[in-house]
Amino acid sequence: MNYSYWEKEYLLADIDYLIVGMGLVGLQTAINIKEKEPKAKVVVIDRHAWGLGASTRNAGFGCFANVSEILDDLENDSVENVYATIKKRYQGLQKLRSTFGDQNIGYEELGSCEIFTKDNKTYLTQGIDSLQGINTILYHELGLDNIFSYRSNTPLPNTIGAIHNAYEGQLNTGKLYNTIYAYAQQLGIKLYGGIEVKEWSNGDTIEVQTAQDLTLKTKNLILCTNAFTSQLIAEDITPCRGQVIISERVDNLPCEGMYMYDSGYYYWRDIDTRILLGGARNMDVDGETSYELESNETIITELHRFMNEQIFGREIAIEHQWSGIMGMGKDHKKLPIVKALEPNIYLAARLGGMGVALSAEVAEEVVAII
Ligand SMILES: Cc1cc2nc3c(=O)[nH]c(=O)nc-3n(C[C@H](O)[C@H](O)[C@H](O)COP(=O)(O)OP(=O)(O)OC[C@H]3O[C@@H](n4cnc5c(N)ncnc54)[C@H](O)[C@@H]3O)c2cc1C
Repeated sequence: MNYSYWEKEYLLADIDYLIVGMGLVGLQTAINIKEKEPKAKVVVIDRHAWGLGASTRNAGFGCFANVSEILDDLENDSVENVYATIKKRYQGLQKLRSTFGDQNIGYEELGSCEIFTKDNKTYLTQGIDSLQGINTILYHELGLDNIFSYRSNTPLPNTIGAIHNAYEGQLNTGKLYNTIYAYAQQLGIKLYGGIEVKEWSNGDTIEVQTAQDLTLKTKNLILCTNAFTSQLIAEDITPCRGQVIISERVDNLPCEGMYMYDSGYYYWRDIDTRILLGGARNMDVDGETSYELESNETIITELHRFMNEQIFGREIAIEHQWSGIMGMGKDHKKLPIVKALEPNIYLAARLGGMGVALSAEVAEEVVAII
C-alpha cells in the first residue's frame, strides 16, 4: 500500500512531539505538553488500536505501599529509593484524582488489606514489628498519620491477621483510561493506533521508521513504551506478564476493597459485584517473562484455586480472564526510568507493578526534562 499525499503531508506531517505508546504515561505526557504548548502538534501513536500493554489490563489498585513489599524492597534497594518510589506513587495518585476527578476515574477509598495465613506467619510477625517505624517514616514523607494498622480479624477464611492501609483506594481502569483518552482528544492531541516504531535517525529532524513502511518526521520523540522498551533500545527493563481472572456476579461478596497476599503476589478487589483476582507470577516466572498477551493455564488454574479456597471458601465460576505486560527492573529496582536518550529524544518507562499511580508523576517528570 502507498500512503496518500494527504496522509503523508497533512495527517502525519510537521509533528512537534511524537509520543510512542498510548498507555497512561504516553497519554498524560501528551496532555502535559499540550497544556504547556497549546499550538504544538502533539501526536501519540501505538502499534495497537489503543494502549495494549498494561494500562487497560491492570487491576485498578490505586496503591502506593504495603508492609511486606517495603520490607522486601529494603533488602534489595537503598532506603532512599524505596521511600522515593512510594512518595512518587502517592503523589501520582493524588494528581490523578485532582486532575480527572474521583467520579470520572471510579476512585473509591476503601483502603487495602494485606492478609496472612499460618503459611506466612513470619511475614506477619515481621510486619507488626516494623509497623511503627514504617508509619513514622511515611508520616514524615507523606504527612499521613498511621497509614498501617494491624487487624486481628478479616472476613476471609484461613487468615490469622491482616495489615490495613487506610489511604489506598481502587480505581475503575476502564473509566480512568476513557477519561484520560477523551481529555487528550479534547485538547486536540492526535491519537493514532496501528503504527509500530522500528527505529529512528536523529539529524536536523528525527526520522522515525515504522513497521507500516511510513517514515514520520518529528522535532521531539518521547518513548512511553514501558515493558516493550527493550525491543527498541538497551535498558534495564524486563517484560513481566501478569494474569487476571474475574468471577461471575455474586450476591454478598466476602470482601470489598483491595486485598493482597504473599508479598503482593496475589491481589484482588471487588468490582461490579464480582471479585477480580490477579497474580501468582511466582508459579512460572520464566514462562511469564514474555511480550505476548497470552494466557498461562498453570497460573489461571492456581488463581482459580486461590479464589475458591482463600476468598470465597466455595466453588465460584470464572467469567473472564486476560493478561497484561508490566515493565520491571532487574534486582527488584522499582524507580521508573525518566531521562533524555539523545538530543530531543526522551524515555519514560519501567512503571513496574504499581504504575497506575506512578503514571501521572512520570508524565510530569519527563515533560519537565523536555
Ligand atoms: C495484570 C496487571 C495488573 C496490574 N495491576 C496494577 C494495579 O492494580 N495498580 C497499579 O498501580 N498498577 C498495576 N499494573 C501496572 C500498571 O498497569 C502499569 O505500570 C502502567 O499501566 C504502565 O503504563 P505505561 O503507559 O507505562 O505502559 P503501557 O500501558 O504498557 O503502554 C505502553 C504502550 O506502548 C506501546 N508500544 C510499545 N512499543 C511500541 C512500538 N515499538 N511502537 C508502537 N507502540 C509501542 C504498547 O503497545 C503499549 O500500548 C498492572 C499491570 C498488569 C499487567
